[in-house]
Amino acid sequence: MEWGTGLDYPESGSYKGKTKREARAIRRKIMQLVVICLVALSLVLAACAPAAVPEEEEVVAPTGFTTTPPYNPQPESTVQAIELKLPFTIHHEPEGIMPMGETINHPPPMGHPGIDFQWSYKEAEIIVALDGVLGGIITEVSPVNGDTVYTITVITGDFGVRYEVVDLPKFNPNLQIGVKLVYGMILGYHQAIGSSTWRMIHWTFGKAFENKGREANPEGIIETYYFEYLCPVEYFTESERLRLEQIWEDANYNDKDEFPNLCNGYYELPKQ
Ligand SMILES: [Zn+2]
Repeated sequence: MEWGTGLDYPESGSYKGKTKREARAIRRKIMQLVVICLVALSLVLAACAPAAVPEEEEVVAPTGFTTTPPYNPQPESTVQAIELKLPFTIHHEPEGIMPMGETINHPPPMGHPGIDFQWSYKEAEIIVALDGVLGGIITEVSPVNGDTVYTITVITGDFGVRYEVVDLPKFNPNLQIGVKLVYGMILGYHQAIGSSTWRMIHWTFGKAFENKGREANPEGIIETYYFEYLCPVEYFTESERLRLEQIWEDANYNDKDEFPNLCNGYYELPKQ
């Protein structure tokens, strides 16, 4: 529909039987009516506009609160939806790290599928690094010293974090599958390595998938979840990522020349 069409008739000829002069008079009248209508409309809009402003102001929340959005916005990416932290407190920063993707001690092409944090003493408690639900516990006996090692899987949405600790029953005597685990909860201690006093946790993060087929892994263990391992670095909160980068800079690791990053080779992050 074109609003101009009704007024855009030719000068010559009649307009519904009227003379040219009458037609011009009608046209003038119509134009006057249009102008009056436009003026009236703009006055109405001007009168309404100030009333609309306070309505918008009402949804502005006081500082520290958020309003309920009119719809549920989806997170821009899953990376932002995860607030991963390190599995130990600032009182027990590790002294050594074996990075992800190293292929000296782990078979290529993928190499090491997690990060090992290492300490020269036992007292570093391993804590829950991301709120989630207990997805599984597998127990094995350490070939180093006969300790029972618990592999704990914590599920958060599509993601999972896996911890290997000893002394789990000392901190959590009645841990049940499906319970909620929150950041900071102590799971246990790291496990012994070799004959020295050094201890470590093999710590993994990734996309977690329910093992519906219940097939055993290469060690013959049926896991409730299997992982597609990911470099955890970009899933950390900003402050924890900076903290980890500092730990890595200071950490003992003999092969930093070959594996200079926290995530190398197969797991290396694209250059920013
Ligand atoms: Zn490891």
